[in-house]
Amino acid sequence: MKFRSIKGTKDILPEESGLWQHVEAVVRSVMHRAGYREIRTPVFEQTALFARSIGELTDIVTKEMYTFPDRSGESLTLKPEGTASVLRAYIQHNLGEQAPLIKLSYCGPMFRQERPQAGRLRQFHQFGAEALGSQSPQLDVEMMLLPLHVYGELGVKPLALNINSVGCEKCRPAYKDKLIVALTKVFDRLSPESQARVQQNPMRVLDSKNEGDQEMTQAAPLIKDHLCTECRTHFEEVQSLLHATGTPFEINGRLVRGLDYYTKTAFEITSSALGSQDALAGGGRYDLLVEELGGKATPGVGFAAGLERLMIVLEKTGAPAGTMRGPDLFIAAIDDPSRRWAFSKTQELRKRGFAVETDFLQRSLKAQMREANRQQARFVMVIGETELQAGAGRLKHMVGGEERTVPLGELESALV
Ligand code: AMP
Repeated sequence: MKFRSIKGTKDILPEESGLWQHVEAVVRSVMHRAGYREIRTPVFEQTALFARSIGELTDIVTKEMYTFPDRSGESLTLKPEGTASVLRAYIQHNLGEQAPLIKLSYCGPMFRQERPQAGRLRQFHQFGAEALGSQSPQLDVEMMLLPLHVYGELGVKPLALNINSVGCEKCRPAYKDKLIVALTKVFDRLSPESQARVQQNPMRVLDSKNEGDQEMTQAAPLIKDHLCTECRTHFEEVQSLLHATGTPFEINGRLVRGLDYYTKTAFEITSSALGSQDALAGGGRYDLLVEELGGKATPGVGFAAGLERLMIVLEKTGAPAGTMRGPDLFIAAIDDPSRRWAFSKTQELRKRGFAVETDFLQRSLKAQMREANRQQARFVMVIGETELQAGAGRLKHMVGGEERTVPLGELESALV
């Protein structure tokens, strides 16, 4: 029997993991500079947490979650996104009592049983951040700038930032009524998927990818034109801060995103280097969610960004150079005594902080040199009886090709 990875999951092979580590290091650095501290939450949670936060009627909750009973019969779900778990932890550990504003970041695997296609997996990875405790539109903009900083440092472009306001509990109900009236007029001509949403989740009809739906809803009212004063002022300030930070953006009145918890700002960052699944990152404000999950009323805002899609963009537009790092030194050994010496020296130099490799297959010198090249070693030293007796060997720089004699006791300083 031949085992295969599960459909929609992906092995990250050694050729790729260098790029992943590089991207993760950039993410960590950007988060650190902006004061977001990492939180790591479990891979699974109680199912009700996601149903309550993401929304009972969303695609994620109705169709896509990996839900299973554990042996005690409790319903558990592999996390389909990060925000619900982070907020659960924030509430459970009373993080809000440590400071009035808590800034958290995360990076890890998420699970959704979607139809696999390019850029859409069943296990994928996201990095993201949440800021809890402030209503300031400055944090809405910070959430847009965090992933944009990561993309900027990786040289990813071109990108488009789309923003919208989805209103709040004060202005949204009256708007939804107006929208339902407009959608009811064209009901017969909507796709069955959108028809099902008209009563329950009418705003999702507006961001339907179906062309017929888009045509039918062209004249439908948009929430951004029906905001209450508070939401309108907030939205204007977000735009003004984006201008002030020199961040290009577009207002997309149809952007609602697939999660129910957003209030006021919603945004998405897309890349034209991706196909139909072109969203790299998305986020928004969720001022009611902490309370909805049982915590003290606390405003919040966050974003999540897909790592696999970022890798696709990086591969298409030229991945950053220097992500593959070979060993500092490869010690090629000719006979048994030198192999023993090479093994001990390898271990010693590794303890001193160097990446060192040697041969474990008793290969010919030629084959060892080929291996050192394949591993992109910076230096190679060949050790045999002569070198051991002389207490010195020839250290060869593999890129420049220059060689010099180095006493074996001084190998460490020669590598610096
Ligand atoms: P969402 O949590 O749906 O707002 O997604 C945020 C980001 O995660 C998206 O913009 C994608 O980059 C990524 N993402 C979401 N779902 C998937 C998936 N099934 N496969 C790969 N990446 C995904």
